[in-house]
Amino acid sequence: MDYFPAFLNLADRPCLLVGGGEIAARKARLLLAAGARLTVVAPALDEALAGQLANHRGTHIAREFDAGDVDGHWLVVSATDDPGVQRRVADAANRARIFCNAVDSLPDSSYITPAIVDRGPLVIGISTGGAAPVLARIIRTRLEALLPASLGRLAALASRWREAVGAALPELAVRRRFWERVFDGPVAAAVEANDTAGAERELSAALTAAGAGASGRGQAWLVGAGPGDPGLLTLRALQVLGRADVIVHDRLVSADVLDLARRDAERIAVGKTPGAASCAQEDINALLVELVASGRRVCRLKGGDPFVFGRGGEEAAALAAAGLPCEIVPGITAAVGCAASAGIPLTHRDAAQSVVLVTGHGKASVDRLDWASLARDRQTLAFYMAVRRFTELMQNLIRHGRPADTPVAIVENGTRPEQRVVTGRLGQLAVLAEAHRIASPAMLFVGEVAGLRIANIPAAEPPVAPADMKSAIQTVQVV
Ligand code: SAH
Repeated sequence: MDYFPAFLNLADRPCLLVGGGEIAARKARLLLAAGARLTVVAPALDEALAGQLANHRGTHIAREFDAGDVDGHWLVVSATDDPGVQRRVADAANRARIFCNAVDSLPDSSYITPAIVDRGPLVIGISTGGAAPVLARIIRTRLEALLPASLGRLAALASRWREAVGAALPELAVRRRFWERVFDGPVAAAVEANDTAGAERELSAALTAAGAGASGRGQAWLVGAGPGDPGLLTLRALQVLGRADVIVHDRLVSADVLDLARRDAERIAVGKTPGAASCAQEDINALLVELVASGRRVCRLKGGDPFVFGRGGEEAAALAAAGLPCEIVPGITAAVGCAASAGIPLTHRDAAQSVVLVTGHGKASVDRLDWASLARDRQTLAFYMAVRRFTELMQNLIRHGRPADTPVAIVENGTRPEQRVVTGRLGQLAVLAEAHRIASPAMLFVGEVAGLRIANIPAAEPPVAPADMKSAIQTVQVV
């Protein structure tokens, strides 16, 4: 670590600012916000700076900088565009052993200022030690997006209640759990909705309940984890993964996605693997109800979207029937994710005016499909769970009139590093799948669009590497 991080209490302390332009005005705003008693040395002042100084009863010395100006100040900021002046300010400050920051000049600075995310009283400072200020700004932008604007008010509320909570809940673990719920439950929701009185009421009630030994209200999130690539999670899913204390997940959810969950969260696998022993849906419903009723915050993580062939509807209904709170967080469904990553447009102005999401799971459901309607042209069929039924699907579609030379594409392990794409014609579907030993999970696309596959899209760089997301979410947990 090249620099020692610190937050300075400047309230009512004399500070010196050299320079009267726009950048000096920006520095003055921060110094004055921290309560500094500000003196500005500059031949002339920018209009904004003059206004700020007048408002805060600061002093303006209207001349060039003189070495003696630094005397009696706690902190010096030099914000001029003259390197000679910056150097003289730094020399004078160093001689007097006063910390000095010269804007945009690392050699003339004995301290540097971080990029900040301000949710006062919560302030996050980010520094790369001057090595890469742009990187610090990028991280700031990400944190800005992750942290709601109401966080400052929430921190202020917590500060008002800190003593009372300490007295009521002397045990550290209990207190920690209590605060976690405050920052992530109805209290935070009320603060976010600008309802301070409601937030105070909720907090007071929660404190009484926690003092009496109640474990607090549980809640569930039914979260779509997308087809596998963690970059395809929604921001909301990422937030939930950082908050839930239990993750109940399908086997289809990729390890990369699970990696993003809170490290201390309990993980329960309830997945169904085709052909293998699996949990009955009723048992999963009962497990969710039991966990939430006992006060746990449960993330039910499902592959793709929870409401597309995910039986999420049944889980949401079971929770609702038990009167337990639940939020549905949508995800990118396999049809959409696989089509994108294989370069297959799902609709096309000329070739496909509709997309049908179809299940190929189980003989009973396949037998009930409306083949006459599925065999019509100008539509894209996206078959889920169809790997063991390719022969049947192919025969039914052709028998009902879909031409045998209709293009098809199979996307196995779509969006994951091991993704495979196999294309051909409907009449060869079973042979193709056999020859390539296609295994679940795979999507089958039938329709002209499969022939329009754009296979040679040059790879683009991902905007956020999964590792970055992980550190971002850990930052959120620390907050
Ligand atoms: N709720 C999920 C679907 C669950 S059914 C969703 O919205 O995507 C499981 C089926 O989804 C699998 O049999 C397969 O057909 C499809 N699937 C899920 N992830 C996939 C992936 N990464 N690649 C290909 N198909 C996938």
